[in-house]
Amino acid sequence: MIDDVFCKIINKEISAEVVMEEKDWLAVKDIHPQAPVHVLIVPKKHIGGLGDVTDENAESVGKLFAAANKVADKLGLKEKGFRLIINQGEHGGQLVPHLHIHLLGGKPLGPKIVRD
Ligand code: AMP
Repeated sequence: MIDDVFCKIINKEISAEVVMEEKDWLAVKDIHPQAPVHVLIVPKKHIGGLGDVTDENAESVGKLFAAANKVADKLGLKEKGFRLIINQGEHGGQLVPHLHIHLLGGKPLGPKIVRD
């Protein structure tokens, strides 16, 4: 059984602050926000990460971007803009092995990549 933290939130085994929900996805506030708005868009069907995106599931993954756009609209981010981030694997900084899009906004977000 897959029991990463997002599966547990989806299965209501642990609580989270849900911002918006549709049949196939959930948008929850990140517990360690990196910006005034930091929401995670999470598919309810488990996909391990971008490394598990295939032709077969690409359509439902694509809908996560529409989801992020809806959430951004609901949270009033569309006029000033926002940023989406997906971390993949060790070098990408992925901590939770369940595909999710970080939606960040609410202030100018600064450089896209921090250099060493
Ligand atoms: P990533 O590094 O891309 O895998 O991001 C995982 C994100 O999940 C981090 O920003 C964490 O702060 C966030 N996170 C971990 N556990 C929870 C939780 N229980 N509720 C909300 N966000 C969480």
